[in-house]
Amino acid sequence: MAGVKVYTAESCPYCRMVVAYLEKHGVEYEVIDAGRDREAAREMVEVSGQRGVPVTITDGEVIVGFDARRLRELFGRPVTDAVYDAVIVGAGPAGLTAAVYAARKLMKIVIISENIGGQATWSWSIENYMGFRMITGEDLIRKFEEQVRGLDVTLEPDSVQGIRREGDAYSVRTASGNTYRCRTIILAPGKHPRTLGLPDEDRLMGRGVSVCSTCDGPLFRDRPVAVVGGGNAAIQTAIEMAKIARSVALVVRSPLKCDEVYVARAEEAGVRIFPHSDVSALHGEAALTGITVRDRDTGRETAIAVEGLFLEIGLVPNTGFLGDLVALNEKGEIIVDENNHTSTPGVFAAGDATCIKGKQIIIAAGEGAKAALAAHEYLLMEEIPCIPVPAAL
Ligand SMILES: Cc1cc2nc3c(=O)[nH]c(=O)nc-3n(C[C@H](O)[C@H](O)[C@H](O)COP(=O)(O)OP(=O)(O)OC[C@H]3O[C@@H](n4cnc5c(N)ncnc54)[C@H](O)[C@@H]3O)c2cc1C
Repeated sequence: MAGVKVYTAESCPYCRMVVAYLEKHGVEYEVIDAGRDREAAREMVEVSGQRGVPVTITDGEVIVGFDARRLRELFGRPVTDAVYDAVIVGAGPAGLTAAVYAARKLMKIVIISENIGGQATWSWSIENYMGFRMITGEDLIRKFEEQVRGLDVTLEPDSVQGIRREGDAYSVRTASGNTYRCRTIILAPGKHPRTLGLPDEDRLMGRGVSVCSTCDGPLFRDRPVAVVGGGNAAIQTAIEMAKIARSVALVVRSPLKCDEVYVARAEEAGVRIFPHSDVSALHGEAALTGITVRDRDTGRETAIAVEGLFLEIGLVPNTGFLGDLVALNEKGEIIVDENNHTSTPGVFAAGDATCIKGKQIIIAAGEGAKAALAAHEYLLMEEIPCIPVPAAL
C-alpha cells in the first residue's frame, strides 16, 4: 500500500500507537509533525477537517485517531492460537509495571492497550515520582516503555471489547476482531476523561474540543482557547497553554480546587478565570468557534470566541467492557483485595480502575507489580484464591 501519511504531535500517545501498529505490521509510512509544522497542521485540517491528532491518510482514506479495527482491516494479520500465561489489559503505569514483573517471572504475556502510557502521558509535569525531581509524563512513560520493550513482552495496540471464561482459561476479544486465549488476566485499564454532555460535543470532538491537551495543545498556537475544570490538571493545562495560545480562559464550576501555587502562576500567565461558571453551549459548524459561559450565581451568559476547548473535568473508570466478569463498586471501580485479587479466580487488577486509594503513578506502578506477582502465584497453585463478591452486588 503506497503513501501512508500519519499526522502526529510529539507528545500524543495515540499517535505513537498508530506508528507502533504500522511498524509492527511492516507498513511503510511517513510521519508529519502537525504539532511543530504549522503548514502541515493546516494541510491536515484541510484534508480531514480534524483539529486533533493522529490522522492517518492512506489511498485517499482518512482514519481519525487510533482506529484499531480499520488499521487491522487494512494492514493486520491474525494472531496465533498460543495460550498466554497472562493477558494484561492496559499499558499505563500499572499495566507496564505488571509486564516487567511478569516477564521477570518468565510468564508468557501479551499487553493489549489502546495507547502506551495512559493518563500519565497527559501530565505536563510530574513532581512526585521517585527518582525525578521533575519529569514530563511523556518522558517518564518513554522510560517505562523502553524497559518493557527490552523484555520478552508482546505489545498489541488494540482495544479489549470483552472477556469470557472458557473452562480454566479466558478468551479476550478485541476491537480489531482478534481473540487471545490466556490462563490469567491482569486488568489495568485506568480511567478516561469525563465530558460535558452538551449537544454538539461529539460532533466537535477533535474539531476544537479536546480531552488530551498534551496531544492537541500544540495545534492551537496563537489561537484563543478555553479550559474547563478547577483541579490541578485544569490549571496546569491553562498555564501551559498560556505559553503558546493567543488567550486562555479557565471556566470553573466551583471555587478552584487546585494547589495554591498554581493560582499565582495562572494569574501571572494572564489566564482569565471564570469562577462559579459552566460552559452552557458550544458553537461552530465545521470546527469550534466559540463557547457560552454561564455564571451559576447570576445566570448571566457570556459568549467567548475560542477555537480550542480542553476538558479537564475528572475521570471515569474504564470498566464498561468487563460486563459481569468481576465485581465493581458504586463508582464503577474494580473491587480488589490487598493482593489484587478480584471476585473472579485468575483475574487480577491494578491501578486507577480499582477501588484502591491514591490515584497516582507511583501507586498504580506498585499495584501493577503486586498484581503480576499474584498472577504468577496463581499459576503455581492448585487452590485458587479470590475475594468474595459483596452481598450488595
Ligand atoms: C492530567 C493528569 C495529570 C496527572 N498528574 C500526575 C502527577 O503529576 N503525578 C502522579 O503521580 N499522577 C498523576 N496523574 C495520575 C496518574 O496519571 C494515574 O494515577 C496513572 O496514570 C494511573 O495508571 P493506570 O495504569 O492505572 O491507568 P491509566 O494511566 O489510565 O492507563 C490505562 C491504560 O489502559 C488502556 N485501556 C483502557 N481501556 C482499555 C481497553 N478496553 N482495552 C485496551 N486498553 C485499554 C488505556 O488506553 C491506557 O493505556 C495525573 C493524571 C492526569 C489525568
